[in-house]
Amino acid sequence: MDSSWEKVRNHLKLELGKDIFKNWIESICFKKIEKNVAYFQVPSTFIANWIERNYGDKIINSFNKQGIKIEKLTLDPNSSSDYLPDIKKNQSDQNNGLDNPRVTNYTDNKNIELPSSPLDKRFTFERFVVGKPNELAHAAAKRVAERGPVTFNPLFLYGGVGLGKTHLMHAIAWQIKKTNPKSRMLYLSAEQFMYRFVQALRFKDMYGFKEIFRSVDILMVDDVQFIAGKESTQDEFFHTFNALVEQGKQIVISGDRAPGEIDGLEERIKSRLAWGLVVDLHPTDYELRLGILQSKVEIQSKLHLGIRINHGILEFLAHRISSNVRVLEGSLTRLYAYASLVGRPIDIDMAQECLADILRISERKVTIEEIIRKVSEHYNLRMSDMISARRSRSISRPRQLAMFLAKNLTSKSLPEIGRRFGGRDHTTVIHAVKKVEELRNKDLQIAEEVEILRRMLEA
Ligand code: ADP
Ligand code: MG
Repeated sequence: MDSSWEKVRNHLKLELGKDIFKNWIESICFKKIEKNVAYFQVPSTFIANWIERNYGDKIINSFNKQGIKIEKLTLDPNSSSDYLPDIKKNQSDQNNGLDNPRVTNYTDNKNIELPSSPLDKRFTFERFVVGKPNELAHAAAKRVAERGPVTFNPLFLYGGVGLGKTHLMHAIAWQIKKTNPKSRMLYLSAEQFMYRFVQALRFKDMYGFKEIFRSVDILMVDDVQFIAGKESTQDEFFHTFNALVEQGKQIVISGDRAPGEIDGLEERIKSRLAWGLVVDLHPTDYELRLGILQSKVEIQSKLHLGIRINHGILEFLAHRISSNVRVLEGSLTRLYAYASLVGRPIDIDMAQECLADILRISERKVTIEEIIRKVSEHYNLRMSDMISARRSRSISRPRQLAMFLAKNLTSKSLPEIGRRFGGRDHTTVIHAVKKVEELRNKDLQIAEEVEILRRMLEA
C-alpha cells in the first residue's frame, strides 16, 4: 500500500472513529494519484456513493493535511474477482472488530449480492447477558435464530438506546451464518433500506431492488423508526414486508418504541408490525447491570493481563450508572485502559476520578432554561430569539437543536417542551427532533455540534 495513503488512513481512523473507519474506509483500495485526483476501487456502487457523499470531503482534507494536494476522488465500483480490499491484505485485528460480509456475501442459489450491513463480532448470544428485563427478547431472538417453523412474524424488538436491540439482531445473524450458512439472511438498518431504495429509484433499478429484498429467507431491519414520515420508503417497506410474510419468510424489526407509538408511521404498517410478537427490552435493573459488568470484566481482564479490580467496584458501577449498557461498558473499558497506563489496580478512588464525568451525568439534571441559554450563546443569538415566533433559518435551526436536546437530556414531555419554547405545539417539537436526527445522520458537522452542546450541558 502506498505510504501516503497509509498516513491518510491513520489520520482518518482518528478523525472518523474506529467504527466508521472499519465500516467504510477499511474496505476501499487505493490505486493511484494523478493530476490531483485520488483513485480508489470499492466493492460496489452503493459503497462508492455512500463514501463519496459522507466522507469524501474528509478524505480530501486528510490528503491535503499530509501535504498531498487532492481536489477530487474517483471511486470505482468494481466487483470483479481480482478486487481485494486493503482489509484482506493486512489481516489485522480480525478477532475483535467488525466483519464485512458485504464483500463476500454471495450466495450459491442466486447470484445476488445481499447488501447486508457489517456485523459486530462481539454481538453474539454467548456474550449477551440475560436478566429479567431482557429475558423474553432474548428467548424470542433465540427462537428465530434456530430457524424452525416461523411461529411469529414479525418479531418486533423495541426499547430505549443501548439496551441490546442491535446486539440481539447481530446475534441472530451470527448464529444463522453458523448453523444455516445457505440461508439468505439480510440484516440492515432502516436508514440503509431507505438509502438502497432511493438509489434504486435514482438509477431506475426498482426491479433489482425488489429482486434482492424478495429473495431473502430472513430479513432484519434495525431502527425502523428511521423511516417514519418518509412516505415512499414506507410504502416500499410495506410491500416488501407483505411479500416476505406471504412466502413464509421470517422478519425481525427493531424500533425505539412500540409500533403504535412511532409517530409518522402509517397505520397499516403499525398494525402489520404488531401482528407478530412485540417484545419490549426493559431498562436494566441492578442485577442485570452487575451481570453484564461481570461478563465484561472477564473480557477486559484477558486484554489487560495482570490488572486487578478491587472488590466492590462493579457493584459501585452497577449502582451508579443506570443510563444504558453502552455507557456501562464504556466505563469499564476506560477504567481498564487507565489502570494499565498507570499500572495500578482499579480501586474506588480511581473509578471516581476516571469516571467523574459519567458519574456526574447520572446525577445531574439539565433544565430546559440551561439548554436554551447554552444553545443561544453558542450560536450568538438572544435567548428571546429562541422562544420568539421568528422563522428565519439562522434562528429556527438552533431552536430545533435546542428542542432536540431538551427531548434527549430532560425528562420533560413533548407538550411541556413546546410550551417552554414560546408556547409551541408538541407536533412542532416532534418535527424538530426528527429534523435534527435526520441532519445528524447525514451531516457530520451538525452531528459534531450536537455532541459538543450535549457535552457542555452535561459537564
Ligand atoms: P441498542 O441497539 O438497543 O441501542 P446495542 O445492542 O447497540 O443497543 O447495545 C449497546 C451496547 O451494550 C453494546 O455494546 C452491547 O453489546 C451491550 N449490551 C446491551 N445489552 C447487553 C446484554 N444484555 N449483555 C451484554 N451486552 C449488552
Ligand atoms: Mg441499535
